[in-house]
Amino acid sequence: MWHVTRIKTIIQNLLLISLIVTTNFTSAQPFEKKTDFVPESTTTIAAEMLSDYIQIPSESGNEKEAGQFLIDKCLQKGLNIQTISDSSGSLNFAASIYPLDLKKPNIIFLNHIDAVQAKNVSDWTYPPYQGKITDNKVWGRGSFDNKGLAITQLSAIEKFIQQARNYDLPYNITLLCVSDEETGGLNGSAIVAKRFNESFTPAVVIGEGGSGVENIKFFPSHKTFFGISVAEKGFLWLKLSCRINTDGHASVVGNDYAIKRLVTGLYKLSNKRQPIRMSAETHKMFKSIGENFGGLKGFAIKHINWYVFRPFLRHQVKENPELESILCNKITISNLKENNTSTNQNAQEAIAMLDCRYLPESSPDEIVATVKKRLNDSIIHISIVRKGPLQYSTTPEFFFDELKNAIKRTFKSAEVSPVMFPASNDNSYYRAAGCPVYGLNPMIVSSGQIKAIHNANEYIDLDDIENGINVFTNFLQSVQKSYTPTDSVSTIIQQ
Ligand SMILES: [Zn+2]
Repeated sequence: MWHVTRIKTIIQNLLLISLIVTTNFTSAQPFEKKTDFVPESTTTIAAEMLSDYIQIPSESGNEKEAGQFLIDKCLQKGLNIQTISDSSGSLNFAASIYPLDLKKPNIIFLNHIDAVQAKNVSDWTYPPYQGKITDNKVWGRGSFDNKGLAITQLSAIEKFIQQARNYDLPYNITLLCVSDEETGGLNGSAIVAKRFNESFTPAVVIGEGGSGVENIKFFPSHKTFFGISVAEKGFLWLKLSCRINTDGHASVVGNDYAIKRLVTGLYKLSNKRQPIRMSAETHKMFKSIGENFGGLKGFAIKHINWYVFRPFLRHQVKENPELESILCNKITISNLKENNTSTNQNAQEAIAMLDCRYLPESSPDEIVATVKKRLNDSIIHISIVRKGPLQYSTTPEFFFDELKNAIKRTFKSAEVSPVMFPASNDNSYYRAAGCPVYGLNPMIVSSGQIKAIHNANEYIDLDDIENGINVFTNFLQSVQKSYTPTDSVSTIIQQ
């Protein structure tokens, strides 16, 4: 039996080596987990690892076990581990091809270990923590956000471990895994970012964010559009509370009571759209898209901030929620707090929660002022529950161009532009440290897939994993080569 196993291992290794040298990956085949007739490829190995990772639940504040799983994988592959913090259920660590102490310029891939809770388990086709692989997809909580990205990043990075041992590569490459992203990053990136420049010598950070999309109504239909995010929206969580002491029995209460006052205020707040605001980042995005697409529509997109195109833009914003999210502040009534009173008992206090996302040139103060003005009721008290870090943007530079070229090598007809990410994420912490930060999930994401994030039936396609590994590998190869454009380095990368 020994020699059969040995030959199988040699064949697998040869297959892997040939994949590394050529970076032409075999197409992912649909397969069921744990079947032994399917040949192992980089993609299927990554999918199996992702499945195992999903099977360890990791809600914010409880990331340790999942983090330890990743550390073990990184150690097995030969990466250097540096734990940044390890406390009360959470874990933040870096895994690099060279020790961070060498202070090499560092290409950092950022991902978060935590995932939101899988509620309403009966809505899931496959149990959320089973990590089921079927229909050419890996299913489960975190499969896309953000465990899938982590495994894709790791699978690209590991191709450079052997080269890093044999040659003095110009860049270190780091997988940075953090906790607590889903609840604002205080136990994660806020800690990591404190001594970021000294500890990490960052050249660039690549985190979650933009991706490829098809069939956006606003753009020419035959085009695949890729956005690399260069800025994020800021976030602010507000609590609205309204207390009116009234009779307890609902049948005798007067015309003015807590829930009615709050609901009236919420109606006024939500009934009016937020105005369109053209941020510098979004303007850059429209210019770039317009130039790429050309023609009359391209001209209109390029000059979308012209007064004459405003009615056209307003119409498009109404029709396309994705445009609204990058052109307007957003205030969402995300929760009405229950106070467990019986139906005939009049609640003395009513509470609502607001999730607010603001554009880089807006501010938390401005959002609070807007809410106050719209509510127009001094009895409704507004308090700040949580506020994200200040927002900065990255001006596209060398690494943006390299990412763009890598995307175009995998997705031949794609147009790539800088975009503002309509939500908030940990990228902001590292932008504040002054290094270039890009948000990229290097895969084409369908609208169904986007809906499933933070929802039931979250999944990632095996094609997404394969394409993602391809894009990141091409990016890293090109960047390592371009640092010292000599034959010797080119030869190193081909080894
Ligand atoms: Zn995420």
